[in-house]
Amino acid sequence: MKDTYGRTIDYMRISITDRCNLRCRYCMPDGVELVPMSDILTFEEIIRIAAAAAKAGIRKFKVTGGEPLVRLGCPELVGELKQITGVEQVTLTTNGVLLSKYLEPLAAAGLDGVNISLDTLNRRTYERITGRDELNQVLKSIDLTVEKGIPVKLNCVLQRGLNAHEWEELIRFTRERPIDVRFIELMPIGYGREFEAVYNEELLEKLQALCPDLEPDERVHGNGPAIYYRLPGAKGSIGFISAMHGKFCAHCNRLRLTSRGMLKPCLCYEDSVDVGGIIRQNGPGRDEINRQIQEAIRQAVALKPECHSFEALDGVTERKRMIEIGG
Ligand code: SAM
Ligand code: SF4
Repeated sequence: MKDTYGRTIDYMRISITDRCNLRCRYCMPDGVELVPMSDILTFEEIIRIAAAAAKAGIRKFKVTGGEPLVRLGCPELVGELKQITGVEQVTLTTNGVLLSKYLEPLAAAGLDGVNISLDTLNRRTYERITGRDELNQVLKSIDLTVEKGIPVKLNCVLQRGLNAHEWEELIRFTRERPIDVRFIELMPIGYGREFEAVYNEELLEKLQALCPDLEPDERVHGNGPAIYYRLPGAKGSIGFISAMHGKFCAHCNRLRLTSRGMLKPCLCYEDSVDVGGIIRQNGPGRDEINRQIQEAIRQAVALKPECHSFEALDGVTERKRMIEIGG
């Protein structure tokens, strides 16, 4: 599908839950109100929407949340998404806590890659950020996933005054193993507004000062807007997702389906199309509902704005929390 600005939209992020087993302070601190379970799309509904999306031209799905692996049946859902005609790739974004437990069924389902979120290698800092003592479990999941031959990317969000200095430790992952480490700028979405981001421009300057022989890495690494570099001889790459200052919107390829079935054209704005409402109508027959879902997907593509405005807080109209949207 082409949008109004000529971009090809072939990637959909699907949030399958707003529940999570961690309490990251910038995403889901303790006490956050949850979406009622009855509002959350069933797997059958998700597959129906995904099939309509594939018919309309979506080729790649990312399963996310909340924490997708806290929802029972996530590996089976991955397997069903993989079976949809036209689908080329299904990947997962997870905090990694339950990944080792579900690795076998995920691999058997044909999972094409995993993004694992890890902001620190210090156990106490990990607990301060996530509210839980799970660092060792995440490190175990990373090792096992790499051993299994599933491509791994680490997503790291740096916060000033907390883990800003940890980038140096985190990039070591790229030296020995084929793991990409990506730094995502903290965005002013939900609780992210309450903390201070570390900007990638500053980080890149520090990295270049430390490693003058850093090489740009032009190879395609996935669906995202990251710009990659590589340490000489390293097996993995270092990516920068400059959500705040890098205007990567010219290459935007995505839609986001929230756990309650709202289809979002852009993370920055509140506009969305209520596909959940369409699929739960009582009157029309199945074929008519499928037609309406496809129409809604095209409408969401048509609504895609030219660019986000994260750099100017007033321009950010999205008021939902990241846990509701699916990061
Ligand atoms: N639970 C899974 C995980 O942690 O990977 C998937 C969902 S989580 C919302 C997806 C990603 O969004 C994580 O890498 C997290 O660090 C990131 N994230 C959450 N809130 C953010 C914010 N305000 N700005 C930037 N990234 C954020
Ligand atoms: Fe959970 Fe991921 Fe949000 Fe952390 S970032 S609270 S792991 S959904």
